[in-house]
Amino acid sequence: MHSALKRVVYPGSFDPVTNGHLDVIQRAATIFDEVIVAVARNAEKRALFSTEERMELLRQSTAHLEKVRVASFQGLLVNFAKEQGASAVVRGLRAISDFEFEFQMALMNRKLEPTLETLFLMPREEYTSLSSRVVKEIAQLGGQVAPFVPAPVLESLAKKFGSA
Ligand code: ADP
Repeated sequence: MHSALKRVVYPGSFDPVTNGHLDVIQRAATIFDEVIVAVARNAEKRALFSTEERMELLRQSTAHLEKVRVASFQGLLVNFAKEQGASAVVRGLRAISDFEFEFQMALMNRKLEPTLETLFLMPREEYTSLSSRVVKEIAQLGGQVAPFVPAPVLESLAKKFGSA
């Protein structure tokens, strides 16, 4: 039955999606029936790509993954997760430096919605120093980001920064 589907929400900025994010998405897809990758419409953060661009890049980069759906949300994550019928939230943990903020947010979300579980997945080691911010910096300075991002993102970064 529809309601028996195990859904998870993977929220983030995804500005833009990297191979590290894709690693987490793929791992989540082995555990859940549906992975909802949710782009936060966050007005306070200065983004390189618009929400629609980020969603389109995610769609193109996950087109081969049947269980993945791309969405966006505004406001409280716990409300969005509930609306979507998700039983859990997944976040990626790269290093100890991610831990404090993630731990705080997971506990706050639990206070807001005790039935929503937060799960942390570790990416492959080679992605542990990878972030959207680092990718943007390298691309802007004309460096090679091909090993770090899916093909559609590589193309969009080249367009944004006017390089090949
Ligand atoms: P946010 O602004 O919510 O941190 P991000 O797009 O930067 O959005 O990250 C979304 C989630 O993906 C976070 O849980 C972050 O820790 C995780 N993440 C980001 N990059 C990687 C990576 N290289 N490997 C694993 N997880 C990652």
